[in-house]
Amino acid sequence: MIFNARDKITRGLLSLARSPLPFHLYYRRHYPLPSVILIENTNCCNAHCVMCPREKLTRKPGVMAFALFEKIIREVSGAKRKPIVHLHGFGEPLLDESIPERIRLAKAFGVKHTYLVTNASLLFAGTARKIIGAGLDEMKISFYGTDDESYNRTMRGLDFKVALDNIRRFVKIRKEMKKKRPKLILQYMPQKTNGAGTKEFTFLWRSVLDQKMGDRLNFVSPDNFGGGRDYNPVKGKIASVCFYPWSALSVLQDGRAVTCCVDYNGAQGAGDLNFQTVMEIWNGPVMSNIRKNFGKLDYSGFPVCQCCDWVHRR
Ligand code: SF4
Ligand code: SF4
Repeated sequence: MIFNARDKITRGLLSLARSPLPFHLYYRRHYPLPSVILIENTNCCNAHCVMCPREKLTRKPGVMAFALFEKIIREVSGAKRKPIVHLHGFGEPLLDESIPERIRLAKAFGVKHTYLVTNASLLFAGTARKIIGAGLDEMKISFYGTDDESYNRTMRGLDFKVALDNIRRFVKIRKEMKKKRPKLILQYMPQKTNGAGTKEFTFLWRSVLDQKMGDRLNFVSPDNFGGGRDYNPVKGKIASVCFYPWSALSVLQDGRAVTCCVDYNGAQGAGDLNFQTVMEIWNGPVMSNIRKNFGKLDYSGFPVCQCCDWVHRR
């Protein structure tokens, strides 16, 4: 659910991020808009996955007002270089019934790449047809088990068979509709609760995905989620610069902008899109300050970043 590194400039920043010194010289420069805008359409979820700190959410559950969503899309689509739009946050995006309309709107405003991450538990035939028809470009599915037991132990509250059938059916429907999008990414996170069955996962999906369409598997390791979990150590030397404030902006379902998508309770606010524009926030004092400090490898004023393993484990 974190970052889309397809943008050319972002890829450049990623390579610099392994070497803090040149990045420091670069820190003042950024585009007038983020490369990626992550819009949390809802922070409600029907699961309690073991690796997700959702039980620590103190934010009110809700769905982003459509008018606010439209305002954000209008603002970012006015630019020649439009951001990639992520349609998810700390929640299950398909719980929001207006998700196909949101995708359709973003595409109608010329957004080139729309993307969401789902657990696929609600990806029934009708919804599948709607989101394919709306023009979604890419969809990542978190699927953290290889059988009933391993799946249900990890993605608590969901059903292995339902999600499995939904994904298989989705691929068939996309074919029937003769559509090349969305490309699918099936993601697995090997961990204790699912027996780290990487081989079994590959076996389970290899005949389902359509590689000619660009579908693929993805393997990730557990993340601390800005202090929501403690999978990885956060003490010791800073190993690399976090490039997030130069490339991405996250918006919570109530319209507050935050400096990072792992900030599940919105502790590091950057502004409020109910009253400000994306450009004002992106080029405003909070984001400028965070870039200045990150450029000097100083994370001390940022409580979420201080608990984040991102800068320690590369
Ligand atoms: S489905 Fe996603 S948002 Fe919901 S608990 Fe699992 S990881 Fe968290
Ligand atoms: S260092 Fe801060 S901005 Fe960067 S990934 Fe971690 S929490 Fe996010």
